[in-house]
Amino acid sequence: MLRAAVVDDSEELVSAVIADFSPVAIHDLAERPLPPGGLWDPTYPPIPDPPPTPLHWNVCFSDARERDSAAAAIRASLPHLSVESVDLPDEDWAARSQAALKAVHAGRFIVAPPWDLPAEDVAATVIVIEPSMGFGTGHHATTRMCLRLLSEIDVADATVLDLGTGSGVLSMAAALMGKSSVVGIDIDQDAIDSAETSARLNTLPDTLAFQVLDFRNDAPKPADLVLANLTGGMLTSSAASMAALVRPGGQMILSGFDHTEVDRVVAGFAGFTEAERLTEDNWIALLLHR
Ligand code: SAH
Repeated sequence: MLRAAVVDDSEELVSAVIADFSPVAIHDLAERPLPPGGLWDPTYPPIPDPPPTPLHWNVCFSDARERDSAAAAIRASLPHLSVESVDLPDEDWAARSQAALKAVHAGRFIVAPPWDLPAEDVAATVIVIEPSMGFGTGHHATTRMCLRLLSEIDVADATVLDLGTGSGVLSMAAALMGKSSVVGIDIDQDAIDSAETSARLNTLPDTLAFQVLDFRNDAPKPADLVLANLTGGMLTSSAASMAALVRPGGQMILSGFDHTEVDRVVAGFAGFTEAERLTEDNWIALLLHR
């Protein structure tokens, strides 16, 4: 492995030089703080481009010869870069490079990237997600809790509406559970594109549709089950219009907020009964009945 660090933005040059030596994994260790409201809250103003982050990479190669040739090439073309060669045991780099990209278990589901598919006979419903900019790879506590709550619901003939579908993970999960008709909407065209890409990797019923839509401006058709993994702010300010999207006798799964916000969210959905509350890493998910 190579440890590379530099304080300007020569990232593209470094990756161009390293690319000639077939690295097996590149880990970017630079810290990039999240803006307030997270990356997916459109109620905040557009996020300005971040300032150039100091480059801080660990790069793994399959053998030491390749690594040392890459180090020599970097030192020759980018002398101001600090580069250090480190030997790792075989399993170690493999474990590190795959850690962030592994399949994740939640309730009756496994969310898996295409390169970490579980065995065919696994006793779980597998959702394949192509990791991209779209939120919802199963690596966030709120997505996992929504999947856990969804696992317990009988959606066989229900209609399902997924507000803020992101990668499409919750919509696909609901579609795989039964004959339900599912609509996943998102304000963001890129999210819908990534949801459609992932949908092609799964064998889904044709009762699932994705659509670019802001539910605050354009009300979708009400459904028996409404899923909304958004933000505490949006759930509170749009509670009335969201509640109107749940059919009488229907249910909601809400997440995307923490302990400091939960009381305001619950108060916004005063016409509902709280059936279950999950907590993970300070995040909360609720199952509400109408
Ligand atoms: N449902 C996924 C993704 C949640 S991230 C999961 O559980 O992992 C929240 C998503 O909501 C983002 O993709 C964001 O673009 C979308 N979103 C935020 N406000 C919205 C709105 N008013 N209407 C539709 N989508 C919205």
